[in-house]
Amino acid sequence: MSTFGERWAVPLDPPPFPASRYERLGERIGGLLSVADQDVVLVPGEAIVALEAVAREAGASGRRIINVATSVYGRLFGEWLAAGGATVTTVSPDSAGRPVEAEAVRAALEATGAQAIAFVHGEAATGIVNPLAEILALAREHGAVTIVDAVASVGAEPLALDSGGPDITVIGPQKALGGPAGVSAVAVGPRGWELLTRPVGAPSFSSLSLLDIRRDWLDTDRTAIPGTPHAHDLWALETALDAVEAEGVAQRIARHRLAAAAARRGVEALGLELWVAAEGSASGLTTGALLPAGVERGAVVAAARERFGVVLAPGPVGVDERLVRIAHTGRNAAFPAVAAAVAALGGAIEAAGGEASTGAGAAAVARAYASRP
Ligand SMILES: *Cc1c(COP(=O)(O)O)cnc(C)c1O
Repeated sequence: MSTFGERWAVPLDPPPFPASRYERLGERIGGLLSVADQDVVLVPGEAIVALEAVAREAGASGRRIINVATSVYGRLFGEWLAAGGATVTTVSPDSAGRPVEAEAVRAALEATGAQAIAFVHGEAATGIVNPLAEILALAREHGAVTIVDAVASVGAEPLALDSGGPDITVIGPQKALGGPAGVSAVAVGPRGWELLTRPVGAPSFSSLSLLDIRRDWLDTDRTAIPGTPHAHDLWALETALDAVEAEGVAQRIARHRLAAAAARRGVEALGLELWVAAEGSASGLTTGALLPAGVERGAVVAAARERFGVVLAPGPVGVDERLVRIAHTGRNAAFPAVAAAVAALGGAIEAAGGEASTGAGAAAVARAYASRP
């Protein structure tokens, strides 16, 4: 937040959030995902809570499930599935931090005859996007139920698919939708509900249960929000959805894609290698770049922060140690943030004793915005 000590004025006692508007929130999220035929449940808690809830009840099905692990989120999801009782086959990319190949998923489906497949769509942590349409098509071909973590892709990558979306989609408002982190949502279609299973001996209520939310909300007359309504988050989510709908979700996705394209042109013009060569596999939220050999990543990240006031994030542990990421998420999916980040990346490399064509990088970002369709 701000370094100047200002405070946001947050009301401590917000008016209760009406159940009728709570119901609309689910419908509006369904509209963003183009899943009018699915139920959308809101889960109190950040998206990782919704993911654990899905994995708990998908795992309790005891089915054979393929889990694609391209980051810590996918790895955790597989652990939760297995703990719940599923037989999990993990598919990972050949090299850490890369997208998975649809062919690897096909081979695993054929080898295991799995009944479901789970994967992350967009990965903000590495700036990659897994091949959503291909994996969904493969799953359909094999009759497998699909579970997609779209937390870091909703609003940044095209999600609406003519051929039909996933059976279960988990989203969070706090990335491209620019909303609160304290509430998340899951869209569940008929085949998704069939997969979810109450664990044997489960108590009558769990905070990690979509089936309980269905019982306590979807299957009621919807006049009482289940649990203690978390009014701050719900008002904030409504405000975020107002903004997304005012902009248009397609425009918001286009804005993120333009930011990614401009960041990529900037990184190339700096003289750096892009982490993801194919633009179609590159995230709309963050762009990964490989630092020149011999330049210390910690020094670049520190120089960017201290000299330029720009946050560059190092790639995750276990992935190429030259990887740094530029974030262009939510309000930062815009020229000022992308231009500042690319210029700061170049300037910080120079400050750390390396070489970068900083002027060319900044110019390339300007050209990308000047020449946009
Ligand atoms: C951010 C993110 C999440 C959610 O993590 P939180 O801890 O709830 O913010 C889940 N999956 C992916 C792929 C993400 O990028």
